[in-house]
Amino acid sequence: MDFDLSWLLWGLPLAFVLGWIASRLDLRQLRIQNRDAPKAYFKGLNFLLNEQQDQAIDAFIQAVQNDPDTSELHFALGNLFRRRGEYERAVRVHEHLLSRGDLSREERDRAQHALALDFLKAGLLDRAEDALRKLEGTEYEGQALLALLAIYERTRDWPHASEIARKLEALGQGNFNGRLAHYLCEQVAGAQPAEAEKLLREAMKVAPEAARPGIELAAMQTRGGDAKAAYETLARLARSAPSHIPLMAGQLVDAAIATNRREDALAILLEAYERAHSLDVLEAIVALQADSAAGRDWYLKHLEREPSLVAASKWLTHEKLEHEQFHSLVQGALDHAARPLMRYRCAACGFEAKQHFWQCPGCQAWDSYPARRVEEL
Ligand SMILES: [Zn+2]
Repeated sequence: MDFDLSWLLWGLPLAFVLGWIASRLDLRQLRIQNRDAPKAYFKGLNFLLNEQQDQAIDAFIQAVQNDPDTSELHFALGNLFRRRGEYERAVRVHEHLLSRGDLSREERDRAQHALALDFLKAGLLDRAEDALRKLEGTEYEGQALLALLAIYERTRDWPHASEIARKLEALGQGNFNGRLAHYLCEQVAGAQPAEAEKLLREAMKVAPEAARPGIELAAMQTRGGDAKAAYETLARLARSAPSHIPLMAGQLVDAAIATNRREDALAILLEAYERAHSLDVLEAIVALQADSAAGRDWYLKHLEREPSLVAASKWLTHEKLEHEQFHSLVQGALDHAARPLMRYRCAACGFEAKQHFWQCPGCQAWDSYPARRVEEL
């Protein structure tokens, strides 16, 4: 067979040209594919700018199906919807992310966390609870447990709240003993006396420095007619939680009078009053004085130390004045002015209330109410 050299001369450049054309075709194909994805984004963006958010989401979802790298866009979009209060849309975005099979574990956890936040913000607490429970063992576990704790506190599900508080403590998120004691105290309402006492004693064991279990136990013992036990409980509490004596001073006086232990109680109260000139302790000291005139002198002694409108008003109550007919008017005005000073105030949010709260009704913080009245703060 003849070997024609001219074939080689023609063939080589031809092969080169064909190869070049083929490579150009491949590149064009690639470019078309790449251009499809941005086109879907722009379409979605266009819908978004025209306030057609449903269509925008559909366009973005279509875009993301072809291109797994757009999960960031989904997260951004989902968070945007949640911030705008459009929870249903945020849920749709995050559920779509979770339904994809190509996400890494980190991204799945992130989507699960975002979904839980959607439900939380939407107030769908049972669905939020499910979503948060799925985050155990992930890097979001700590945040998820704190959110679960808030849910159980809000729904007053104390056994579950205790379970979560223990898990948080095991994760090294702080000391939850004070909270655990409150949860036990919260379960006392509605319990039978024997069960209630068991709960309170357990709370005292969990948090020996907490004042609430002792105060509630003493109140229960007083109601049950056992003033002696109530007095013992309060006297012990005065030693373990001296800063809370103002909250239990009234109870202590009642128990001391019932059990004839005035001197003993007075010694506890005087010592507490020397430490801090509390109005409630002052009231209790006055109540324990056998002679009412001597009792009222205590208000004057208090006024020498503190310019207290409350003490001035109380002293004036039984004072004989020169123009007796105006006494009730002056007294009324003073009482009116002093009333707001007798409130308790949350140290966390400033919420004021006539009664002392262990959990602030305003900001839900625990132990945020000092045991002192507004005038003394
Ligand atoms: Zn508060």
